[in-house]
Amino acid sequence: MAELPDIQNAGAGAAGGEAANLSYARLEEIAGRYGTPCFVYDAAAMRQAAGRLRAALPEGAAIFYPVKANPNPAIVGLFAALGFGAEVASRGELALAMAAGIPAKRIVWSGPAKTDDELAATVAVGIYAIQIESRGEIERLAAIAARLERPAAAVLRLDLPQDAGARRGDWAGASSFGMDEATAAAILGARDSLAPVEIVGFHNHPTSGSLNAADFIRRFATFIEAVGRLSKGSAPRFVNFGGGFGAPFYADDRALDLDPIATFLRGPDVQAITGDGPPPQLGFEMGRYVIGPAGWYLARVVAVKRTAGRRFAALDGGIHHLMVVSGTLRFLRRPVAVAGPPAKGGESEPTELTGPLCAPTDRLASAVPLSTALAPGDLIVFSGCGAYGKHASPLNFLGHDWPPEILVEGDKERLIARRVRFEEVLALQSPDHPAAAEPGRVPP
Ligand SMILES: *Cc1c(COP(=O)(O)O)cnc(C)c1O
Repeated sequence: MAELPDIQNAGAGAAGGEAANLSYARLEEIAGRYGTPCFVYDAAAMRQAAGRLRAALPEGAAIFYPVKANPNPAIVGLFAALGFGAEVASRGELALAMAAGIPAKRIVWSGPAKTDDELAATVAVGIYAIQIESRGEIERLAAIAARLERPAAAVLRLDLPQDAGARRGDWAGASSFGMDEATAAAILGARDSLAPVEIVGFHNHPTSGSLNAADFIRRFATFIEAVGRLSKGSAPRFVNFGGGFGAPFYADDRALDLDPIATFLRGPDVQAITGDGPPPQLGFEMGRYVIGPAGWYLARVVAVKRTAGRRFAALDGGIHHLMVVSGTLRFLRRPVAVAGPPAKGGESEPTELTGPLCAPTDRLASAVPLSTALAPGDLIVFSGCGAYGKHASPLNFLGHDWPPEILVEGDKERLIARRVRFEEVLALQSPDHPAAAEPGRVPP
């Protein structure tokens, strides 16, 4: 296993200071320049979140940026420059992370269905560790590494039992992710037969998007107890606590309090992992926490109507770019964090915000108080949209263009993904497509 000596604190120091926030006026200016719908990200907000995270984690802990949270190469590159490694789950993500400047020796790979080709790729490029989900998987990895005559570091991903405090969305209980403790113990018992694969430690990814510090402490403690039982006699060299720190998204969300987590991580439970040996490398894989609050989705009102006693504003953007809000269908009463133009005379009216898709799921927010004077052309701003936005959405559903992405650096901004017309998407898949031959048939 490679050492991770310089992963920590490179580029840290962004902690503290004013919370970065782009004003409605600034976003209106950007929307005017690049068109809507679009995503806007603020580099200062990313650095601040990374700095807060860094300060909360123990000295020397490694942070792996989960590429799936937002795979825009400029964003992965920004976290690379801050000293993050990467957590990847496909060949494409591995290539992207390396192209964005993250060396293979700072990359971990997770995923419940790693193919032989994917396992061979991880061995060939020599990533930091492969996070193993099953006994069959580590046996295949061993055969591949032996064939390639290369070493490989493996981490056993634990599937911890659901506990009383578990909530929907927790990654616990029987699942495709990781293995129960008995399986992990059996693999450890057979470790000598797995050469040239070396088992270097343990992984658990407890949850996603939780804002409850007590939840994390409880699940981290459960994980550490399991690690302790499994590493009798040989202390692990790498212990990876996974991701899941939430960032405010709904209007009534309160930020996750990192202080009790920071205290726990410096306390006796974590110290006990070490025993008499050298302390293990600790790892964390935080995506949403660092990129979620740094992103905005901008859309303009196309039509306003009142029907059956309710006001609807149909926008030029929808869940094909922001599928994450369609999750609000489950809790439609939760207020999505939205801003519109100022209400003249302070008068506002509850409004349903819908998108252009011919699907009833395309409702971005419900009962949002917006100006009674709301009119076509007005800009609607969704905050907290940096993670699991564009790249986690069904972009091609209904044949709209892919939205551009813009990165703000202080008073400058830069296009980091251009608008892609749907004809281009079709042409990319088949050069014989008529849209490729005659791209200008329909005016943009
Ligand atoms: C998705 C994922 C993460 C990131 O989760 P966030 O909620 O964005 O922090 C981390 N680790 C693994 C294994 C994941 O699958």
